[in-house]
This record gives sequence, C-alpha cells and structure tokens, in this order.
Amino acid sequence: MKSKNLALTLFSIALLLFAASLLPGSCAGQIITLEETAMDEARETMVRVLIDYGVRDEKVLNAMRKVKRHNFLPPNYLSRGAYGDHPLPIGHGQTISQPYIVAYMTEKIAPKQGEKVLEIGTGSGYQAAVLAELGADVYSIEIVPELASHSIAALAKEGYKCTVKWGDGYQGWPEHAPFSVIIVTCAPEELPEKLVEQLADGGRMILPLGASNNQRLIILRKQGMSIVTENDLPVRFVPMIKGEDPTQ
Ligand code: SAH
Repeated sequence: MKSKNLALTLFSIALLLFAASLLPGSCAGQIITLEETAMDEARETMVRVLIDYGVRDEKVLNAMRKVKRHNFLPPNYLSRGAYGDHPLPIGHGQTISQPYIVAYMTEKIAPKQGEKVLEIGTGSGYQAAVLAELGADVYSIEIVPELASHSIAALAKEGYKCTVKWGDGYQGWPEHAPFSVIIVTCAPEELPEKLVEQLADGGRMILPLGASNNQRLIILRKQGMSIVTENDLPVRFVPMIKGEDPTQ
C-alpha cells in the first residue's frame, strides 16, 4: 500500500513538472531572455565607446549595434566578455580585432548595398557579418580549416549569407573578381599583388602592412591604371600566413 502511495506521489510530481515546463515564460526561457538583454545592453555600451572614439557613420554604427559579436566567439573564449574594446583570442593562435578597429576599417572603405567585398582572414566571421549587415555581397577566405568551418557555421546560424572558403588569401578569389572592396584582417609584409589585380577599377582596399612590430593600415585606391595609397593608423594584427594554397 505504502509503495503504491509513493508511486502515485512521484507520478503527480512528474505530471506537475511536465505541465510547468509547458507554461509560457518558463524559467529557462526567462534566463535566455535576461542573457540576451544583458548582451544587447553591452552592445549599446560598446557603440557609445565607438562614438566617443570618433566613429560617425550611422550605417556602420547600426551594423555594430546589430551583429551579435558574442555568437561569433568560440564559447571557451567568452570569459573576457564579447563587448569590451579589446582584441580577443579565437583559438589556433589567432585573435579577433577590437570593435573600434572593425568599425574604423569598415567606415574607411564604406561598402555600399550590393557591392562585392572580399575579406582575407575570416577568423570568427564577425567582420564578415558586419559587412553583410551593410548589404555587401561578402566573400571571405580563411587559411585555418577549423576557423573556416567555425565561421561558416556561425554566419549561417546568425542568418548572414556570406561565401566563405578555406584557402590562401594571397591567391585572392579570381573566380569572383573583380571586387569593389578588399579588406585584409591579417598583416602581410608586402602588398599582395594578386589582391591588387583583383580590385575593380574605382575599388578600394584596406590592409595592415608590415612586420609585427611595425605595421600601418594602408588604404589603396585603384583608378584606371593608377594606384593611389595612403598611410593610416599604426596597428597590430596577426601576420598573414605564407603557405601553399591548402585547397590545391
Ligand atoms: N576578421 C576576423 C579576424 C581575423 S584574425 C574576425 O572578424 O574574426 C586574422 C585571420 O587571418 C586569422 O583567422 C588567420 O587564420 C587568418 N589568416 C592568416 N593568414 C592568412 C592567409 N594567408 N589567408 C587567409 N587567412 C589568413
């Protein structure tokens, strides 16, 4: 008799728990919403810092406001917070640039709706998402296979239609050239010739150039046969790895 009562009590508890989990606004749902709200607030604070630092382009600021940076970072690297203005490790000895540099480079090359953009160094996929949020048609190349798969998955999950491939950025992507914009997010020591060739007439390219202790952002514009380059901020990016095209 006793064991029958116990079984009945356990069955009632299980039934109650099941019914509670069906109620709207269950505990788990509330925790997720609270976390997302905290992330939205952190992103707003990040955008205020970008404005303080001088980023003015409303479209770029809106893209930075929208793209969920925390969803591009591998989960085990999230402990330092996704929205502070500092670079963050993404594994395999690579880092994602601080939000200010992402916004600054994006503002400098200002991709317009529908323009074809090539990014070298997909990394987490975050910069590619910011470019896609501006309406650009984004192609991106990543040399570390694990990062290429990570960024493909993260971009798809966040709903961005970017074309990413595992490959060597020094080769560019001749099948899709010419590009209106090329953005390089790792630092070569010399200007990659093939990328300059794949830039459209009237196109612009931004890249960190130089050895690790002596890099500068360079902005390059192609007008007909002439190439005009401009030296910009001193920066520090991970080096652009030289190697065979891993897909060949
Ligand atoms: N834009 C990235 C940051 C990338 S860090 C983001 O938003 O997260 C620089 C990236 O360049 C690294 O992922 C590194 O693996 C990649 N990289 C280095 N050399 C490369 C090369 N030759 N071709 C393509 N990618 C390269």
